[in-house]
Amino acid sequence: MKTVIVTGAANGIGLAISKAYVNEGAFVYMVDKNREKLTEEAGKLENTEAVSADVSSYEEVKKLFHHINEKSGTVDILINNAGISKFKSIWDVSVEDWEEIIHTNLSSVFYCSREAALLMDQGGSIVNLCSTRAHMSEPDTEGYAASKGGIFALTHSLAVTLSEKDITVNAISPGWIHTGDYESLRTVDHEQHLSNRVGKPEDVARACLFLTDEANNFINGENLVIDGGMTRK
Ligand code: NAD
Repeated sequence: MKTVIVTGAANGIGLAISKAYVNEGAFVYMVDKNREKLTEEAGKLENTEAVSADVSSYEEVKKLFHHINEKSGTVDILINNAGISKFKSIWDVSVEDWEEIIHTNLSSVFYCSREAALLMDQGGSIVNLCSTRAHMSEPDTEGYAASKGGIFALTHSLAVTLSEKDITVNAISPGWIHTGDYESLRTVDHEQHLSNRVGKPEDVARACLFLTDEANNFINGENLVIDGGMTRK
């Protein structure tokens, strides 16, 4: 049975990813800082453990992986999905906002990847949730775009370094995916997409399964754009 860690697992894309791995027969550590929602969602699924942690804190990440090491000893797959958007203009965003975005979205990927790689003795796979905004931004998204651009670069760098441990590291850049976060941002025309619809969390979950399948381990250091062709239009 594969051991999988999904961060930001209580909602949206992370929840869909957790369900997809459970359906594939994996044991999933579902990690989120929203303890109440996490416990509720994990309680509905077999072969999961809800672990409440704030992945923007290295102290909490170390405690999280200490627990996983004690219980499972090894990790096969890490999905770095936890993220916040906080779209604000450069004039309105506070230094505290900036630091929260960078630590939640980017530092967490560094913290969790390092700790997970130490437990990937038989090789493994890491997938990082990036965004189309790392490649083409809009006004008032500087913090978010910078954090996701950092993930894009970190993914390449980790892929090179962790190849010595037979660990693949890839990124996924979703476009508009219909989650709670998306609802709070704005309404998007379906016509913006070649696929004539907004994305579903399950579109991203299926891509995670594909990129972490051992049969596909020749894909390494890549960034897979899942945006219904929006950035091609
Ligand atoms: P969401 O807000 O629905 O869910 C994110 C989850 O992460 C929440 O459960 C939240 O509690 C958790 N989380 C936030 N900060 C955390 C922290 N410090 N520690 C632990 N958990 C934390 O978001 P979503 O739409 O499902 O997005 C998931 C990922 O996909 C994010 O990284 C996001 O940037 C990325 N993404 C989403 C879209 C989209 O359109 N939805 C597009 C591109 C990229």
